[in-house]
Amino acid sequence: MMSKPLAVPADLAPETRLVHAGASYGEHGFVNPAVYHGSTVLFPTAAAFHAQNQPYLYGRRGTPTSRALEEAVELVEGGYKAKVTPSGMSAVSTTLLAFLRAGDHVLVTDSVYHPVRAFCDGMLRGLGIETTYYAPLIGHGIRHLIRPETRIVYAESPGSQTMEVQDIPAIAEATHKAGALLMIDNTWGAGHYFKAFRHGADISVQAATKYLVGHSDAMMGTVTCSAETWDRFSAAYEEMGVFAGPDDMFLTLRGIHTLDVRLARHMASAIAVAEWLRTRPEVETVLHPALSNAPGHDLWRRDFTGASGLFSVLLKPCADAALDAFLDGLRLFGMGFSWGGCESLCIPFRPHRTATRWLPEGPCLRLHVGLEHPEDLIADLAEGFRNLARS
Ligand SMILES: *Cc1c(COP(=O)(O)O)cnc(C)c1O
Repeated sequence: MMSKPLAVPADLAPETRLVHAGASYGEHGFVNPAVYHGSTVLFPTAAAFHAQNQPYLYGRRGTPTSRALEEAVELVEGGYKAKVTPSGMSAVSTTLLAFLRAGDHVLVTDSVYHPVRAFCDGMLRGLGIETTYYAPLIGHGIRHLIRPETRIVYAESPGSQTMEVQDIPAIAEATHKAGALLMIDNTWGAGHYFKAFRHGADISVQAATKYLVGHSDAMMGTVTCSAETWDRFSAAYEEMGVFAGPDDMFLTLRGIHTLDVRLARHMASAIAVAEWLRTRPEVETVLHPALSNAPGHDLWRRDFTGASGLFSVLLKPCADAALDAFLDGLRLFGMGFSWGGCESLCIPFRPHRTATRWLPEGPCLRLHVGLEHPEDLIADLAEGFRNLARS
């Protein structure tokens, strides 16, 4: 067997480490690990079978492909250890089910990704687990909502669609004081622009489907744990039989190698487009964490090292047909849900709120700024506004 390349040294810059993440699993000189399609792993002797201590035992218990990806995710997130799941939603559901039991209480941000709300109000409620939604900008005030039976406080920063940046250190402090765990959906910053564990999170989940995969060609979730939460989570992961497909794992690892350069371009182009949108008469406001009027902008400046390509725009009230004409006239911005790929997207949305109120009256748009040239994107939106005015 060939000697393995060294694991990525910790003293190198994050950008350098991302490029080489998982490389120690490459064999025969190949820079990337093989895609192991495997269930059965043979034991060479009866003694080896009884001992069960060889590195690989059974497909679902880990392959060189899954280990390489997990190592890369640990590197991105900076937590203790990580596991991957078949989708972002399964990363959320597996984690909540790992820690919650009948009679427990969970606090969830009102700006949460909507299918998570459906999971809490459906599956968790059916299991006797109560959810309370809280205002995303609550900060230290979360302490008034924590009860003796509160087991998890769930954050997502910035929030889905409405983009509120949360005070994670303040929420972490109150959560830990009460003996509960802080879990965060870290998809927007991809773990690269927000270091969840440095800001007090105990568990960070991502829809790797978005930026880690980065090319809209695979579904994947990641769960990264602190040392304290790892045993409970990894036991539940085993018990529930979670694993992901090898080809999708490979695509996720490949995406991680280019995460830094892609995100840098998403950030620069999204800020250029957001600033242009802010000058338009049709626009009421632009909700982009890097823009000074965005909710939680100061927290973004304090806690994040960058901004990705996803943000929202509130338009001044207009007729439904005018909005549809705007959307139908866009050539580069497609209409679709899963963002984080190379291509730009623009979809209308209506925020769902139960703990807070959504006051703006005009239509809301969520934009994902992809890797196209920002001038082309601005020209596309300008054409959209011409269509909006004409109809
Ligand atoms: C897309 C998304 C998810 C769910 O990911 P899937 O891979 O589609 O299941 C979870 N959280 C956020 C913030 C997302 O954008």
